[in-house]
Amino acid sequence: EKTNETFEPIAIADSASQEDLIWNISLQARIDAALSNGEIYLAFQPKVMVQSGEIVGAEALVRWKDPVKGHIPPDYFIRQCETAGRMSQLTRFVLEEACKAGNAFEREGLHLPIAVNISATLLHERSIVAMVSDVLDRHCYDPRRLTLEITETFRISNLDLAAEILGELKALGTKISMDDFGVGAASLEALLKLPFSELKIDRMFIAPMVGDTKAQGIVKNILQMGRDLRIIVVAEGVEDAGTLTLLRDSGCIVAQGFAISRPVRFEKILQYHKAKEIGALKNIV
Ligand code: C2E
Ligand code: MG
Ligand code: MG
Ligand code: MG
Repeated sequence: EKTNETFEPIAIADSASQEDLIWNISLQARIDAALSNGEIYLAFQPKVMVQSGEIVGAEALVRWKDPVKGHIPPDYFIRQCETAGRMSQLTRFVLEEACKAGNAFEREGLHLPIAVNISATLLHERSIVAMVSDVLDRHCYDPRRLTLEITETFRISNLDLAAEILGELKALGTKISMDDFGVGAASLEALLKLPFSELKIDRMFIAPMVGDTKAQGIVKNILQMGRDLRIIVVAEGVEDAGTLTLLRDSGCIVAQGFAISRPVRFEKILQYHKAKEIGALKNIV
């Protein structure tokens, strides 16, 4: 019977997946709305020279402030974006806003490279190259001032394809950074095969440094590896002065973390730039 055929897909779906379906549809709609109504916006966290406190970059970190629920943690809603098939929409939005901020810094005389997080799952398709290139063109943004931080590298399923895609992104002029280094089984394989010019030591290794010689040993050796490979090593998640001192003594050049500055609205980055010194920067927060 015709009617039965029409309803068959729903009839074979159990109630849980029907719920999933409805949840995902409303999730997509909520994400789309939040992207256009200002609920989703960017915060920026400075990357600074450990020795001088000079700002050498700013990482764009996405924020979602729901009018009812308040702040939704990025780790959570980024997963939701992936579930809802909205990762490239979110990433395009972040790239656009990052270029706008970068151009605004430039107008203030601050030549600051901006870093944008790129989920490893976006490296499964070549369309990311056209997207980045299109955003750069639309904003007349100098690609050399854009760093793409690849998060969760261990989720890359095809390293050869990812290497080609990242090669094309690098050819545009952008810098490629490996985020959360040390976490996940494929770290060294990815480092060997992908064209990174920066790696960020995951805060899992930085947080316990004070009083933990094992963590110190690992960090020191990652720093040495960075020198051998001639890539920049950034220590992320630096939460206190003691850690900053240890990093400085280990030859770490660039650091990022709450001890220096929390992620802030972009206007504050200009204030940091003017303050120029780590202690002073911290007091502005
Ligand atoms: P991530 O790229 O490793 O970013 C660093 C995270 O550590 C940020 O969390 C930042 O707020 C936090 N952090 C910085 N300094 C410290 C510190 O001293 N102590 C501690 N405990 N945390 C610190 P956030 O903003 O919650 O972002 C979490 C993750 O979400 C990011 O980790 C990144 O993987 C992802 N993410 C954020 N924005 C985007 C985005 O636009 N696109 C994609 N694909 N992922 C994003
Ligand atoms: Mg990052
Ligand atoms: Mg990280
Ligand atoms: Mg992280």
